[in-house]
Amino acid sequence: MREPYRTSTITFRVDPQVPEPRPIALAGEAIRAGGLVAFPTETVYGLGANALDSAAVEKIFRAKSRPANDPLIVHIADLSQLPGLAVSVSELAYRLLERFAPGALTLVLNKREAVPANLTAGMDTVAVRMPDHPVALALINAAGLPIAAPSANRFSRPSPTTAQHVADDLKGRVDIILDGGPTGIGLESTILSLVGEAPQVLRPGGVSLEELRAIVPDLTYQPQYLADEAAAASSPGSMLKHYSPRATVVLFRGDDDLAVWAAMRAFADEHDHVGAMTLEREASRFADLDVTVESLGADLDAAAARLFSALRSLDSRGLKWILARAPDSSGLGLAIGDRLLRAAEGDVIDVKPRR
Ligand code: AMP
Ligand code: MG
Repeated sequence: MREPYRTSTITFRVDPQVPEPRPIALAGEAIRAGGLVAFPTETVYGLGANALDSAAVEKIFRAKSRPANDPLIVHIADLSQLPGLAVSVSELAYRLLERFAPGALTLVLNKREAVPANLTAGMDTVAVRMPDHPVALALINAAGLPIAAPSANRFSRPSPTTAQHVADDLKGRVDIILDGGPTGIGLESTILSLVGEAPQVLRPGGVSLEELRAIVPDLTYQPQYLADEAAAASSPGSMLKHYSPRATVVLFRGDDDLAVWAAMRAFADEHDHVGAMTLEREASRFADLDVTVESLGADLDAAAARLFSALRSLDSRGLKWILARAPDSSGLGLAIGDRLLRAAEGDVIDVKPRR
């Protein structure tokens, strides 16, 4: 394993709507000088570096302890930056960008030679997105460069949705943290590959499949969860273990509400040091048990925004178990279910309906 990247970390607070010019200029200079800057986007916080400088890109892998076979997403602020990164960009790609850029959609395209090999894990494709956040866009513009940025967490930890999460994982490994408050969506972007025979979703995320299908009716999505690191290497993002807290996450799945709650209560009754993540209206199900409950809010949008933060928060309380229920897979539910399944490392209890 390579040595982690070490540096001293400075945090600047920035207004998320109208970022102050001085911290943005300093952060832009840090990027130009080959340093690392963590910044808010509308999905999660990113750990950024000059995408066209392989030494700067290498620092991202070292700061995160991220394996070299997991490629990064490049962030742009303007479509004029796209031809510098990708070749043979199709008409469909431009239609998608017209609708979803800026936004939580990442496109996988054929890469231009100038894109460093370590950024794409040696593949001839590159993932590109335009974030919908004033701080991210101001930073990219100040740097005057496309910025490579994976989520700003240590490898396999829950993604960061606040600057504090970034500092918890990366203090001493990132030059500047731009603190623009909590992120809006709270889940990573949807990744759509346009390099195969048919458009293929590689990761569900902030843009739902329903929204994408309005423009790409023939898209496919084949969830892949590989427990074996060697097997996962050829298919980036397919590793099952991800977003893992120290506690063991147990995911309950089933359509019969009462049966699912009964199963979760029984588990909580039989184990010690149990936490649970639930929607607000379901929190009372555990009120009479010795369970630490973290509310995910009123609906799926709120749950997406709070999911990673709730995982980190429960984990900091020294619990052994974190119980969660898989949402139905429509809209953001698909991405939430995907993150929960990875946090649970596939540990799912399917609850049969009662009659
Ligand atoms: P993160 O930003 O930390 O969520 O990680 C970026 C993810 O983007 C990786 O884990 C990959 O799944 C995906 N990705 C990046 N580049 C490519 C690519 N060229 N082809 C397929 N997937 C990619
Ligand atoms: Mg990540």
